[in-house]
Amino acid sequence: MKSFMDEVRIIPRIVWPIALLAGGAFAYLMIHYAPNSPNISQWPTIAIIGFAFSLLYAIVSVLLSGYVYADARRRGMRYVMWTLLTIFVIYGIGFILYFVLRDPLLVHCPKCNATGRSGFIFCPLCGAELAASCPACKRAVEPEWKRCVYCGIELDATANPLNAAMPSGRM
Ligand SMILES: [Zn+2]
Ligand SMILES: [Zn+2]
Repeated sequence: MKSFMDEVRIIPRIVWPIALLAGGAFAYLMIHYAPNSPNISQWPTIAIIGFAFSLLYAIVSVLLSGYVYADARRRGMRYVMWTLLTIFVIYGIGFILYFVLRDPLLVHCPKCNATGRSGFIFCPLCGAELAASCPACKRAVEPEWKRCVYCGIELDATANPLNAAMPSGRM
């Protein structure tokens, strides 16, 4: 699992000013057009807390939509549909749905840079090894396995350098 900051970094740069603009516009509208009490200094504490949370919600929803756009794109999913779903399905339901249903990350062939789905063991174009596999039955094996769970053959960790170099890519 990658760190939170790595995930934040995939949000397209243009989304940050948009999020701030959205927050600014929201704050402006609230402060200038709030019913009954146009002066924020006269608001009751609960209204100010509510206002702060709504403001945060406005900014974070824009950032989350930007995240879904970039993340769905790199996973080869229908990113336009998912971004719109995150924006228009309220209360974060679209975003939660996205996390439940999103596809695994794509893998890139180290030799020819072709894209493959997570779980591919060999590159579909050049046949280079994308993940560790059993030397006997060629099925995917995990680095900590001492034996292949499919054919039972003993696995030598040092025989396959990909064992150490390739993270599993699953998250
Ligand atoms: Zn390849
Ligand atoms: Zn095997």
